[in-house]
Amino acid sequence: MAKNGSGKSQATSTAGRSGAAGAAKVKSARLKTAASRTRTAGREQAASITPRPAKRLVSEKAERFTESVIREMTRQAQLHGAMNLAQGFPDFAAPAELKRAAQQAIENDVNQYAITWGAKNLRQAIARQAKTWQGMEVDPEKNVTVCCGSTEAMIASLLAVTNPGDEIVCFEPYYENYGPDAILSGARPRFVSLRPPANGTGEWTFDEGDLRRAFNRHTKAIIVNTPNNPTGKVFTGAELQLIAELCQQHNALAITDEIYEHIVYDGAEHISMARLDGMSERTITINGISKTYSVTGWRVGWAIAPALLSNAIRKVHDFLTVGAPAPLQEAAAMGLSLPQTYYEELAQGYRRRRDRLHAALTEAGFKAYMPRGAYYMMTDIRSFGFADDLSFTRHLVKEIGIAAVPGSSFYSESGQGAQQVRFAFCKKDATLQEAARRLSQLGKKRN
Ligand code: PLP
Repeated sequence: MAKNGSGKSQATSTAGRSGAAGAAKVKSARLKTAASRTRTAGREQAASITPRPAKRLVSEKAERFTESVIREMTRQAQLHGAMNLAQGFPDFAAPAELKRAAQQAIENDVNQYAITWGAKNLRQAIARQAKTWQGMEVDPEKNVTVCCGSTEAMIASLLAVTNPGDEIVCFEPYYENYGPDAILSGARPRFVSLRPPANGTGEWTFDEGDLRRAFNRHTKAIIVNTPNNPTGKVFTGAELQLIAELCQQHNALAITDEIYEHIVYDGAEHISMARLDGMSERTITINGISKTYSVTGWRVGWAIAPALLSNAIRKVHDFLTVGAPAPLQEAAAMGLSLPQTYYEELAQGYRRRRDRLHAALTEAGFKAYMPRGAYYMMTDIRSFGFADDLSFTRHLVKEIGIAAVPGSSFYSESGQGAQQVRFAFCKKDATLQEAARRLSQLGKKRN
């Protein structure tokens, strides 16, 4: 198995191991091996007609990961006319008042660049809500950078704080962007395993010793995603406290992805790392409107950070994208003013969908891990007897008409997650009902 710069084994591209050809082929991982990078570079050089000194036209960084498996599964769903339970975007309408606010902003000619780090009223709304929801003291003039989604907030933050040789600690399975984000920012990822609960209804946990060993003098930051994609884990106060102690001990930052802040179940409480003693000065809190307001296509997110870090993030953000869409920032400010009942109904709606999908998956023969937050369900597919997650998801999309995400795409090493598959339940009741019907065919259509 190939090693990456951190000395950890990297996931291999599984195009070969899957043996699949043509349209239904699904790659399992984004972090590529050195061998496959050399093969690609060799083919490009052979194809050159004029004999010139060999030059790599594609950067080494870009060769170290593949395209997103999750977004690839969306294309597979379209190709096979399957239902998309792969990518995390709702198939139901966004709040009407939010859409009206966006239309109104365009009508009012809020159509030019906003201030690069975010329209003033949106930054004020973000600061106000951070205080209301998490008791955070946020200065909208100094601490907030509005970005093109939390995706950009994460990469802008990493680019703003990392130097070559820095290490980024990350729990795995992890949201697939973090691996390429670390590579693009020149840092080395170090992964700490989250272990699934034995019985399906318990919590995903990590070993304290593993976490302690992951921190060292090279550690620049830890990425904490809570509520978590793909596991549905909501980190507890005690777990966050341990992470905070390690950050302080090793003078490291916490970069928290809290995009599912309002989607929690069964009394689970979302706690922002920045709330913990001594952490506001070393935490970058990332969030956005995609999930809370069902507008994943709008691309508005933000990073809240101490002034020193905010200045660096703002500079990187300015040269990456200049700014997030101005009229949609206006609408986002309106969204952040919705009453508390909006958030209660949001969580209730997702709990209903979660329970529906859990019942359908369990009925169909999956071991489905009950999430405490976010809108995904990780499952164990061992009972179906498929060689791996890729052959299973291929069968699922082609024969059953449901696209899901192969579990291995959330891990750094090949083989991990090979008997896991993730489903998204941010869908209408009718969609989930039809998904349940199709899933019930699984046993029958096994080839
Ligand atoms: N962070 C996590 C954990 C996600 O699951 C997703 C989307 O699925 C994102 C970030 C992307 O957020 P945005 O749309 O704000 O870029």
